[in-house]
Amino acid sequence: MIPFNKPYLTGKEMHYMYQAVYSGTISGNGIYTKKCQHFFEERYRLKKALLTTSCTDALEMCAILADIKPGDEVIIPSYTFVSTALAFVRQGAKIIFVDSRYDHPGIDEEKIVEYVTQKTRAIVPVHYAGVACDMDKIMSIASKYNLLVIEDAAQAIDATYKGNPLGSIGHLAAFSFHETKNITSGEGGLLAINDDRFIKRSEIIWEKGTNRAEFYRGEVDKYGWCDTGSSFLPSEITAAYLWAQLENIGEIQKKRVSIWWKYYEGLKEWAGDNGVQIPVIPEYASQNGHMFYLVFKRGEQRNKMIEKLKNNGIHAVFHYLSLHKSKYYKEIHGNREIPNSDHYTDALVRLPLYYDLTENDVDKIIEVITLS
Ligand SMILES: *Cc1c(COP(=O)(O)O)cnc(C)c1O
Repeated sequence: MIPFNKPYLTGKEMHYMYQAVYSGTISGNGIYTKKCQHFFEERYRLKKALLTTSCTDALEMCAILADIKPGDEVIIPSYTFVSTALAFVRQGAKIIFVDSRYDHPGIDEEKIVEYVTQKTRAIVPVHYAGVACDMDKIMSIASKYNLLVIEDAAQAIDATYKGNPLGSIGHLAAFSFHETKNITSGEGGLLAINDDRFIKRSEIIWEKGTNRAEFYRGEVDKYGWCDTGSSFLPSEITAAYLWAQLENIGEIQKKRVSIWWKYYEGLKEWAGDNGVQIPVIPEYASQNGHMFYLVFKRGEQRNKMIEKLKNNGIHAVFHYLSLHKSKYYKEIHGNREIPNSDHYTDALVRLPLYYDLTENDVDKIIEVITLS
């Protein structure tokens, strides 16, 4: 069976974890944490980076930093993972769902403005499949209405918008190192802070509402409770694992991007002939080999394809269920239709894509798909 995903091991993970364990400091914010954060700040031009235990946690930190209060409204796409919404709902926000683009599962930038009200506080674009949303459009709406932009860059490591790394454009951004992402630590995430206003407070929220980070830098002579927060930082063991992956990011990305192009070249003609949508990379974006997907005209065709692949030993999977129709939120959302999101829910399928996928595997998958 060709699995849908297989986490990549560089081979150095155990070595660095061993070093972390025997260094005697295994709680958070040690040497490996700082190495990983520094790597992100330099490579992706972030003002400040903080490792977190997940992208969900990084988004929760964003919601706290944005000072989201009950009754505030936050604009997000309906076609996304639960966490994009949940992090803000926990602060009392009302989620206003906007539809996906017709040509791409990302948020339809043109539709955002009609949902901005007096209560709107933030827009949370999701760079689906590591393909950038049109950030100039989103940032200009935000500056016009004085809103914050929080990039859900969970899938977007190493991808760019007009040459700028995703995660470096919004006021805040969140990355994921869940095992299904390009770079992983099992569970893990990172908060990017690109606006000076949030830097000091972010460290306090990260460390259980205390100024412990300042204390360890010797900037204050004792530390105490100064704000809300939680234990958002991972242990050094997790950071050590992550560091092994980050060291190899060039090679990991090269391989993933080449698999992505092999799918693209092998499927584009068939897709055109059969009315199947394959990923579109806008001129302003560079993709990161996170995901290759097909969108069929109808849900039954998608389901049949998943079945056919399964019968040939290939595990392909569908993706998000529109959040506006979720059990938890549908009553609050009401009846407003969000058709493109529903279409991706019904008709999108993701193909296997991971470092160890061989050229033969990809050839076989393409052959099975294109065989009528
Ligand atoms: C994976 C993912 C998340 C959640 O990441 P975790 O690290 O598992 O919390 C959030 N948003 C999107 C778009 C994702 O793909």
